[in-house]
Amino acid sequence: SIKTIAELYKITPSVIRRAEVARYKPSRAVERVSLFQGDITKLKIDAIVNAANRSLLGGGGVDGAIHNAAGPKLLDECRTLNGCETGKSKITKGYDLPARHIIHTVGPIYSEKDKDEKAEQLASCYETCLEVAIENEVRHVAFCSISTGIYSYPIVAATRIALETARDVLDSEKGSKIERIIFVVWSDKDKNVYQTLIPEYFPPY
Ligand code: ADP
Repeated sequence: SIKTIAELYKITPSVIRRAEVARYKPSRAVERVSLFQGDITKLKIDAIVNAANRSLLGGGGVDGAIHNAAGPKLLDECRTLNGCETGKSKITKGYDLPARHIIHTVGPIYSEKDKDEKAEQLASCYETCLEVAIENEVRHVAFCSISTGIYSYPIVAATRIALETARDVLDSEKGSKIERIIFVVWSDKDKNVYQTLIPEYFPPY
């Protein structure tokens, strides 16, 4: 089982020191977030988030891995969706995945000169994924690090947006329906970024 951040604070108290830099007040939201390093396609959970492109017809990176693992019926369902705008999200079944649903979201392709617009679009990905989750009674959702692969969003800035948006939704009234958010990282570098930033947004309660 994947430990929550609150559980990790208990077994590794040294990380609590970093909470001195907290930008958010301690809240029980820390009991509803986890960090997992590994393959998102292996998770048995209500929904995993796919970093898709606007066609929703498959691509490289995590999108390719999800389509491979879910099987061809996923593409059949995706063809009926008429694509998806940047910053928006659409849900499908999980087919051959252990996950029951896939929430497909379209992250921005990063560019430094439009970075404010890109930040809004990335925040919108996290928000709309969680809205779609709530509408579909998805209580446990696993996010990959949207836009930080092929779409080259800088990992530190992207992680801050992921954590801030998740914290805001978990603290909100509609977000009370979300029981668990799992942030899934692939590389050691990304894991280190999340481990460093999590105490700022989810300090111990
Ligand atoms: P984008 O086009 O939105 O940048 P990518 O798929 O290129 O999407 O990358 C998004 C993130 O997903 C990257 O951090 C990448 O390392 C990670 N990733 C790739 N494959 C997997 C996987 N099987 N499970 C979890 N994360 C993955």
